Amino acid sequence: MIEIDGSQGEGGGQVLRTALALSMVTGQAVTLTDIRAGRAKPGLMRQHLACVQAATRICSAQTHGAELGSRSLRFEPGAVQPGHYRFDVGSAGSCLLVLQTVLPPLLLAAQPSQLTLSGGTHNPMAPPFHFIERAFVPLLRRMGADVQLTLRRHGFYPAGGGEVEAVIQPATTCLRPLVLEERGDLQEGYAEALCAGIPRGVADRELLMVGEALGWAGERLRTPALRQNEGPGNALMATLQYAQHAEVFTQFGEKRVSSEQVAKRLVNELQRFERSRAAVGEHLADQLAIPLALARGGSYTASEISLHASTNFEVIERFLPVSFELTPLDGATRVSLRQRG
Ligand code: ATP
Repeated sequence: MIEIDGSQGEGGGQVLRTALALSMVTGQAVTLTDIRAGRAKPGLMRQHLACVQAATRICSAQTHGAELGSRSLRFEPGAVQPGHYRFDVGSAGSCLLVLQTVLPPLLLAAQPSQLTLSGGTHNPMAPPFHFIERAFVPLLRRMGADVQLTLRRHGFYPAGGGEVEAVIQPATTCLRPLVLEERGDLQEGYAEALCAGIPRGVADRELLMVGEALGWAGERLRTPALRQNEGPGNALMATLQYAQHAEVFTQFGEKRVSSEQVAKRLVNELQRFERSRAAVGEHLADQLAIPLALARGGSYTASEISLHASTNFEVIERFLPVSFELTPLDGATRVSLRQRG
């Protein structure tokens, strides 16, 4: 039984998701205490409970403490069963965080899986659908696995109601190490304003401001068609396609925050990344950690290593015989995965 202190490092939901994922991968039972102690509302919220329930289904786990508000959990995994599953977060909680929880064991399973996930698809503090599709999944393909994603319906906070389908094709043997130290030349850059159930002028103002700040115009400023009943919601995204991979930056419209402020936040985030010499930004830096650990090798350069990422590294090191070595570089940090023992 591995014991994980949920208050360690950032003390957030990632400690739980990573522990569940790697418990399923390794077959090791885990006990989590002080779950999300670092958050204003600690314990299992609906969104985290949805992750526990999804994990329980795919490996017929025995659990204790899988309840709303619970601050401790015992999770004893059975054998992972690839197959067809439907997981519903039951709120606007991110369904991509449910995918993040069950994906690692399903990537290593003997058969493909098909998941239908419902909840939020574009949530603050979670990977938006387009980030997973454009930035994360292509890197998994390079590692020998595949995930085909379809966005059936957008879902924004607080209404939710989004739906994503994921067809997971596991790696034939094991994942291959990934080396991603250069981003390569910029091949394409474009911005998209998603607007559902709110005035179209919001998207126009956001894109105008992004266009002025980055010198982008015409086809590089896009307003994809969304059904009005998918909202209300607004997400402003910028995608930079480099020779080696893509980065996707996202900011969300909020009440009492002007369209110009949303655009400015996006431009600042994108320019901060461009100024760094790193291959990947803050979020890929924490999300690539599990795939590299499963591949038992690889390295990447990151624009920043957040507390979120370093906490994730520590939890991974508790389950797998690997260690993450961080080397400061000029304008970036290199993260290298080493096998222990
Ligand atoms: P808590 O409620 O405890 O804060 P949580 O489960 O909602 O926890 P975090 O623990 O903060 O969330 O984890 C958020 C996850 O979402 C991380 O994997 C992070 O990389 C990812 N993420 C957050 N924002 C973005 C973004 N803009 N683009 C891509 N990924 C993101």
